[in-house]
Amino acid sequence: MKRIWIKDTIKKKSEKVKVSGWISSVRSHGKIIFADLRDFSGSLQLVFVPSDKETYEKAKRIRSEWVVEVGGKISERPENMFNDKIETGRIELSADNLNILSEAENIPFSIEGLGFDISEEKRMKYRYIDLRRERLKKNLIERQKIIQFIRSYLQERSFVEVETPIITKSTPEGARDFVIPSRIQKGKFYALPQSPQQYKQLLQVAGIERYFQIARCFRDEDPRADRQAEFTQLDLEMSFVEQEDVISLIEPLLIELVKNLYPEKNIQEVPFPRISYQEAMEKYKTDRPDLRKSPENLAFCWVLDFPFFEKDENKKWTFTHNPFSAPKPEFMEDLLGKRNIEKILTTQYDVVLNGYEIGGGSIRNHKPEALKAVFEIMGYKESEIKDKFGHMLEAFAYGAPPHGGIAWGMDRLIALLMGEQNIREVIAFPKTGDSRDLMMGSPDEISPKQLKELGIKVEKKKK
Ligand code: ASP
Repeated sequence: MKRIWIKDTIKKKSEKVKVSGWISSVRSHGKIIFADLRDFSGSLQLVFVPSDKETYEKAKRIRSEWVVEVGGKISERPENMFNDKIETGRIELSADNLNILSEAENIPFSIEGLGFDISEEKRMKYRYIDLRRERLKKNLIERQKIIQFIRSYLQERSFVEVETPIITKSTPEGARDFVIPSRIQKGKFYALPQSPQQYKQLLQVAGIERYFQIARCFRDEDPRADRQAEFTQLDLEMSFVEQEDVISLIEPLLIELVKNLYPEKNIQEVPFPRISYQEAMEKYKTDRPDLRKSPENLAFCWVLDFPFFEKDENKKWTFTHNPFSAPKPEFMEDLLGKRNIEKILTTQYDVVLNGYEIGGGSIRNHKPEALKAVFEIMGYKESEIKDKFGHMLEAFAYGAPPHGGIAWGMDRLIALLMGEQNIREVIAFPKTGDSRDLMMGSPDEISPKQLKELGIKVEKKKK
């Protein structure tokens, strides 16, 4: 007999079925053994009676989290045993066959309930057990629905999803790169992308006018409780657009996403309020204002008109958001002339939700001289510009369309929509705040042979 999912047993009253899954609990009432069986689709009560001796003897052994296959007849429960909290609460399986597929040790923590009371270290070390928890399973399913919605929405509007390399060269996005040593080109290094920024711009030069990607990005930042070294962006870029075009694609996408998937949620204000950086800082003392009037609302807003440059700790100019951004058109002359640098505003737009920046983007400099001016203002030498960004300047010399885009931090957006405080709750296999994977035990040392092949010597840690 073919195994069916538990959710489908509801339609099988008085029929014989075979189901399989994990035992959630076992209890004896007199001589009858009751057990709850759980699979991906639901939960079902199993009943074992002594008259079926062989099955009953096996049932006496089963414990929580054992994996079993059970055959039997679906029957209606006596009315006083109805449990209308679960879909299969009016039926049960009268088991006449039991096959133990896998025994299980006692699990290190309970998977009932929300799990917030269990230490996170433990939950992450045994993530595959933690993920059996209903809340986390739901988060993963919802995450997939959100991403699927975005994909269809963009594909219906002629966007093309393009995968860009993971093993690449560093993009300056303000964080440290993760680097990968090259075995074949000893002494040289790849970098993991902080974002697909350069590739998506090069795709515009290539004529892929509407690009998007659910992209993994990597940033080697100092430990922060609620950041992940690798995270997921909705990355998007379009040609022949101005700031308003990007905003008027993104805002309806967010609205439709909420309306379709979370109709019970209330967006506080549509169109989303637009606030200048200056106003945000003066009024809210932050460029990520939380505008919620009631805590349940989704309060989106746009923050615009950011300064392009700021001074770093060495008193040198650096970009505030993205070195590839164009200035607002009225500041282009200043950028090219490298004048009034502190006054230059960028085309950057950030989208903020309930006090979190969930996305940001800009219109880009598509003329080589404007891009070059940005790097000159930041004090890069001619040779450095050529070495690091020569390929971009060269590409822009072969006919680059005006273009712009945005990237959303998907983990944060999903966490907010799911009412989760921490992005780790919506990531299948997250890392700790200091970027360790407690389950896999990474980062880890590599063998002397691997080091030798890579031409790398590791300095011994000082004791
Ligand atoms: N690449 C930028 C980032 O990752 C976003 C963008 O400008 O599209 O922050």
